Amino acid sequence: MSTLRKDPLSHGWVIYTDEEYQKPEAPARVVNMPAGGCLYCEKNESMTLPEVAAYRQGGLKNGPGWTVRAVPNAHAVLHIEGKTNRRGEGLYDMMNGIGAHEVIVETPDHSALLHLSSVEKIAEILHMLRDRMNDLMRDPRFRYMQIFRNYGDVAGAVHPHPHSQIIALPIVPRWVYEEINHAQEYWKIKERCVFCDILAQDSDGPRMVYENEGFVALTPFASKFPFETWVYPKEHLNSYHLATDESLLVLADAVKSVLTLLATALEDPPYNLIIHSSPAQPEKRYNTPTAKLNDYYHWHIEIIPRATKVAGFEYGTGFYINSVLPEKAAEILRGQLTPPG
Ligand SMILES: [Zn+2]
Ligand SMILES: [Zn+2]
Ligand SMILES: [Zn+2]
Repeated sequence: MSTLRKDPLSHGWVIYTDEEYQKPEAPARVVNMPAGGCLYCEKNESMTLPEVAAYRQGGLKNGPGWTVRAVPNAHAVLHIEGKTNRRGEGLYDMMNGIGAHEVIVETPDHSALLHLSSVEKIAEILHMLRDRMNDLMRDPRFRYMQIFRNYGDVAGAVHPHPHSQIIALPIVPRWVYEEINHAQEYWKIKERCVFCDILAQDSDGPRMVYENEGFVALTPFASKFPFETWVYPKEHLNSYHLATDESLLVLADAVKSVLTLLATALEDPPYNLIIHSSPAQPEKRYNTPTAKLNDYYHWHIEIIPRATKVAGFEYGTGFYINSVLPEKAAEILRGQLTPPG
């Protein structure tokens, strides 16, 4: 018998079926060198637009010697110059495609795998993402910063060199908007953060995947996708840009651990990793006298392995079908922690 579950954050419903879960067909790892050389490899710095930031052990700006490098995406979907120019045309709302789209080149090593990198290296990447977010937040035109990482062809990675991306948007995107609204409603009724409540309820339960001193990884009660795993800071904090250096080191351990569990259980699946955080320039409705964004929103990472295809039913209804109950997924992932034999 299939089951229906409602997600407290998106308020979307998910159908859990009894069908057998199919692992992704091929591992995600893509290390082929693009024809003409890789624009994100060391010594090819001139192939990218000039860097906006870099951590270096030596060398000059836009030259070799960097360990993490942030460059504008040459195929940016939004552009930095100009005004948003919000306007109406009859009943329709429009604005210009103003924003920023940066690529964070995570390492000079073309074939590095994130989950096999050291905790310190992962922390360095998280550090750059936080710093870029902080910098972009100073621009009052940007309402939301979306940090994401696509790994593997199927997950939309257009380039094989290890990288993450950050897009600064002139609006708050729909999923975040829905999470904010539902978290605000929850706060208005209970005066508690729904994310903190989820952590309190699920940390010791069957959906727990991994825990260290600062973070907990859980499979959500109504996860939309098989093996979807969220990483939450234990400390209530509304935005990623506020994370301290020490906490990023602890987060790096959690990210490495969860990605390793997924890579082991699902044989190196393609995935999307996204960070959900508070809007940068919150509109008034998010901060009412009785419900402040800092009180009810709680940043988190969502990691979505890509095995199933989203199709007509999902697009038509916003209703997801999942063949793996989150408790089962968490059990399988936790099982990878035990050495065989
Ligand atoms: Zn490369
Ligand atoms: Zn919280
Ligand atoms: Zn979220």
